[in-house]
Amino acid sequence: MQLHSKLPNVGTTIFTTMSALAREHNAINLSQGFPDFDCAPKLRELSNYYIHQGFNQYAPMPGTVQLRERVAEIISQSYHANYNAETEITITAGATQGIYTALAALVRNGDEVIVFEPCYDCYVPAIEANGGTPIFSKLNFPGFSIDWEDVRKKITPKTKAIIINSPHNPSGTIISANDIKELEKIVSEKNIVVISDEVYEHMVFDGLQHESVSKNSILKNQSIIVSSFGKTVHTTGWKIGYVAAPKELMTEFRKVHQFLVFCVNHPLQLALADFLSDKNNYTELKHFYQSKRDYFLKLTQGSRLIPFKTSGTYFQLMSYKNMSDEADTDLAIRLTKEKKLATVPLSVFYHQKTDNKLLRFCFAKKNETLEKAAEIICKL
Ligand code: PMP
Ligand code: GLN
Repeated sequence: MQLHSKLPNVGTTIFTTMSALAREHNAINLSQGFPDFDCAPKLRELSNYYIHQGFNQYAPMPGTVQLRERVAEIISQSYHANYNAETEITITAGATQGIYTALAALVRNGDEVIVFEPCYDCYVPAIEANGGTPIFSKLNFPGFSIDWEDVRKKITPKTKAIIINSPHNPSGTIISANDIKELEKIVSEKNIVVISDEVYEHMVFDGLQHESVSKNSILKNQSIIVSSFGKTVHTTGWKIGYVAAPKELMTEFRKVHQFLVFCVNHPLQLALADFLSDKNNYTELKHFYQSKRDYFLKLTQGSRLIPFKTSGTYFQLMSYKNMSDEADTDLAIRLTKEKKLATVPLSVFYHQKTDNKLLRFCFAKKNETLEKAAEIICKL
């Protein structure tokens, strides 16, 4: 049989590759973004409770009412934006499915979708699998801010959507209120949908604010917001997230959602809805991760790696330009094999593999893991 691949350039993701290499070489894994500590015992108890209560059949297609109402409440409390839980919020199998579904619902052959580089890995394949063309706009270096002039030049009659991501993986930067204004100027009164990946919405540090597109009434009306409970409550393995969008967009989203997954894990949705009734379970997250970031920076102070500024997410970029001129992918592999420390090289987030001599470290780890990693880093 002759297969004509829809995604000829796609291999195995860097996260899978580096985590496998870390396991193989018994290395400390600061590569793939996931906590090496467990979620709250209360959340585990609630999930047991709902499984034992027999909520083990299909959930409603858009998600349980309890969790959709909880999401509407959290968005309203966090950003003073109102979404109708019945028609404007859908619970998804993680943010990945939310993003894929949004693109599958919107993109037709020949449509263009603007993405910013460095770019999280699931956007481009989802655009291409649906017949679209990714149009790349590079974030400025070294600040990783958006070059709005470049974006303006790249808008064409074929532009169907722009994918933004703040807090940003992999750089750890966040967009500002001014970026939101620029985005508004560009998309308002045009048929361009903003897909806003806000999975790290509750991890913004140093007293800064998360600029959700839901806070801007014009953008809210033409945006699909995607988020993930995996990040917020330390359950990346549950693969549950949500999407919020105005009714017209959500109606189209659900047409695809119902045939892609139909619905997602029922008892865990009920557990999440209960657990998140306590606001502290999401409002405290920024303090928790800010201390992890600060601890990691303190431990690695004086090493030959130069840290970049992380304002959000659980990722820390470090430049190794004072240490080596090796390609970042070679260095990441060598550090894993020889020094027993796994990281992610930044060039993999660029379609032309731009190598700025940067590695990404995930600090969502126990303090003892960070201490062991720092010991290795300080000897490099
Ligand atoms: N977007 C970004 C920016 C991410 O970092 C991640 C994952 N870690 C996702 C989407 C996917 O989230 P999920 O695991 O809920 O599918
Ligand atoms: N988002 C995680 C990261 O950036 C990885 C998730 C995955 O492995 N797909 O590391």
